[in-house]
Amino acid sequence: MASFPDPKTFQSHAPGYWQDQDPKKWNDWGWQLKNRVTNLRQLEEHLTLSEEERAGVLLSGNKLAMAITPHFFNLIDPTDPDCPIRRQVIPRIEETWDEPYEMADPCGEDSHMPVPGLVHRYPDRVLFLVTDRCASYCRYCTRSRVVSGAGEQHLESDHEAAFRYLEEHTEVRDVLLSGGDPLLFSDAKLERILSRLRSIPHIEFLRIGTRVPVFLPQRITDSLCQMLQKYHPLWMSVHVNHPKELTLEVKEGLERLANHGVPLGNQSVLLRGVNDDVEVMRTLVHKLLMCRVRPYYLYQMDLIRGSAHLRAPVSQGIEIIRGLRGHTTGYGVPQFVIDAPGGGGKVPINPDYVLQRNDERVIIRNYEGKTFEYPEPALQERIKEAPLEPAAQLCGCD
Ligand SMILES: *Cc1c(COP(=O)(O)O)cnc(C)c1O
Ligand code: SF4
Repeated sequence: MASFPDPKTFQSHAPGYWQDQDPKKWNDWGWQLKNRVTNLRQLEEHLTLSEEERAGVLLSGNKLAMAITPHFFNLIDPTDPDCPIRRQVIPRIEETWDEPYEMADPCGEDSHMPVPGLVHRYPDRVLFLVTDRCASYCRYCTRSRVVSGAGEQHLESDHEAAFRYLEEHTEVRDVLLSGGDPLLFSDAKLERILSRLRSIPHIEFLRIGTRVPVFLPQRITDSLCQMLQKYHPLWMSVHVNHPKELTLEVKEGLERLANHGVPLGNQSVLLRGVNDDVEVMRTLVHKLLMCRVRPYYLYQMDLIRGSAHLRAPVSQGIEIIRGLRGHTTGYGVPQFVIDAPGGGGKVPINPDYVLQRNDERVIIRNYEGKTFEYPEPALQERIKEAPLEPAAQLCGCD
């Protein structure tokens, strides 16, 4: 069975538990979807579940379904009950515990939908939820109220109404396709959406938010990439949380996208016991850069119902950014954000690098904790007129 000697390297774990599988089938994304692990019996064939997991799996059918592609399932370390992959996709009973501050729709998306499935919160861009299905389901999904089709609420996206809205709203220059996962559509169906969007002259920028390159790298075929490159500028945001997810197959898929001119960003969710650790995040961002993916956002987890067991404090996110900025490649440092509860949008959260600021000066702290002073134009003017005493001059010291 697959073992995990070093999460820093790009390894293949195929075929893992599916030893007898014809490699052609294994590499077929339709086969991967058909053979997802979706029930207790399949899980228990390979893993010893805890009581919390067992109960969670049995109850997940009424909320957010369980589904794990064979590719992703092979990344679970069967000997580690706290495996960071396991925590992301295997339900636990804690998901049925709602805290009073938790919400079904923490980012207030439903109240910002002018037409079903289209979220228009920011002035010049929209989020277009094209489907409610994903290759595997993340237990902390911000849209768990609608994805997978298992819960009470359903996503009733109306693609035609969305296209008409976008045609009328000339202020929209950026459309982000998400869901669910747009890459679960066939090439032809996805192309119909992209070409329709491209026929709207004021839409400049297209992007796709997807976890398919991670859950289902077999989907990133040459024909998909060739289709996508007809619709440039088209960017893609992938979703990787832990370095173990960047396998050889995932790296090859990402490279294929990059080779077809798709700029890649990554969005991670800060998850307790998964990536709430500077070392883990440093390894992750280094591996992402090697896959030509620019870390884009690190999200504080939304106040989704039943997600408290996976939530890390904001202070930990700030510590992670502090541990990256200056210590490693700037391209590797994501922006930490909180999506303001109730629908305020993304708010950047940074370590306190500005210690003090007034009209004349800014006192700043660098990554080593040293303080510096930067003179504002008002002080620059004053110094020009009357040079300060040496003792009062700008200091670059502690
Ligand atoms: C995140 C998000 C976007 C995109 O935001 P960027 O900061 O431009 O990446 C757009 N619309 C909604 C509703 C979003 O949640
Ligand atoms: S892939 Fe995205 S939309 Fe799908 S379950 Fe995971 S977080 Fe939610």
